[in-house]
Amino acid sequence: MFKDIIEFIKFLYPNQSTIPLHAPVFNGNEKKYLNDCIDSTFVSSVGSYVPKFEKMMSDYIGTKYAVATVNGTSALHLALKLLHVNSDSEVLTQALSFVATANAISYTGATPVFVDSSPSNLGMCPDALLKFLDENVILKEKIAINKVSRKKISACVPMHVFGHPVQMEKIAEICHKFHIPIIEDAAESLGSFFSKGRHTGTMGKLSIFSFNGNKIVTSGGGGMIVTDDEELFIRAKHLSTTAKVQHEWDFFHDEIGYNYRMPNINAALGMAQMESIDEKIRSKRATALEYKNFFQDKNIKFMDESEGRISNYWLNAIEFQSKEARDSFLIETNKAGIRTRPIWILMTDLPMYSSLPKTNITYATKYFNQIVNLPSSVRF
Ligand SMILES: *Cc1c(COP(=O)(O)O)cnc(C)c1O
Repeated sequence: MFKDIIEFIKFLYPNQSTIPLHAPVFNGNEKKYLNDCIDSTFVSSVGSYVPKFEKMMSDYIGTKYAVATVNGTSALHLALKLLHVNSDSEVLTQALSFVATANAISYTGATPVFVDSSPSNLGMCPDALLKFLDENVILKEKIAINKVSRKKISACVPMHVFGHPVQMEKIAEICHKFHIPIIEDAAESLGSFFSKGRHTGTMGKLSIFSFNGNKIVTSGGGGMIVTDDEELFIRAKHLSTTAKVQHEWDFFHDEIGYNYRMPNINAALGMAQMESIDEKIRSKRATALEYKNFFQDKNIKFMDESEGRISNYWLNAIEFQSKEARDSFLIETNKAGIRTRPIWILMTDLPMYSSLPKTNITYATKYFNQIVNLPSSVRF
């Protein structure tokens, strides 16, 4: 039934018996920097690649500061801690996200509140967000309190799904009105811009990126917190390094910290990967354009970037008209060795999160039922 699509994907990714969804490509200084780490013995929590990688990231994103962490989940956990999210808090996020977002919120003891996706965009729906806040929240001395649970709404964590920027201007305006700080989960959106020159991750009080093996740039495992706020930057670094007070020999820790600092060997890999970010984004956008043109005359919708936005097209996605069509496509392509996959099961359908507060999730449900991700690795 989907023979032409299978042929086309094999044409994009030739000479592979199975075509992965997203495989990393190492064709730069990766081995050189890793060897350098090993030769120098600095493979762990001290070394020159970590600050270099951080500088590279803050320069590229356009924030003043960056703090490298062991993974994106720990970056999110730390970012939430920095905004004093705790067990008296609720945190707004998306029903449609990777589980790490809700997990990190839960680590702080806070309750995630799941917001629907936008009809025009896979990310958080500003209208659903506003409706929830208008109906459930009162402002008390500039603190947003949920009237029902009596908990404080301590943060809002929108996520740029598959690299497509959320409608951040609207979300920011709503959150500003309710005095709710924003943390951008930009784990998937390295190389995605709200507008020309304004990278995703620059509109939250803090934002996080991930360098897991399936992301555009990988450090093996790794994450990054970015911010323009000097105080938060200093605290992020302090908390990620066991809250140790700098001293030549004393081990004095002034609070309960975390062992979340990125090891040097991961930073070395990440830095080598980051050196060719522009080529990677060029390749991914070219692949997206190929898919877009291919699906133009089919009864299948290609998930395109929104007007004025620049997407990294981390994972290309198509939307079928029914769950049945989606299911037959998943079966047929995977049988042919092409690793397509559905979106994550919605957070509201996972056992540990199914009884938590949420908005209507009409659009997230539709996306879950009808969308499939296509192979999207960088092609050189
Ligand atoms: C990848 C990812 C993360 C972080 O993942 P790590 O594997 O911990 O680096 C967080 N949120 C989203 C949406 C992601 O896709």
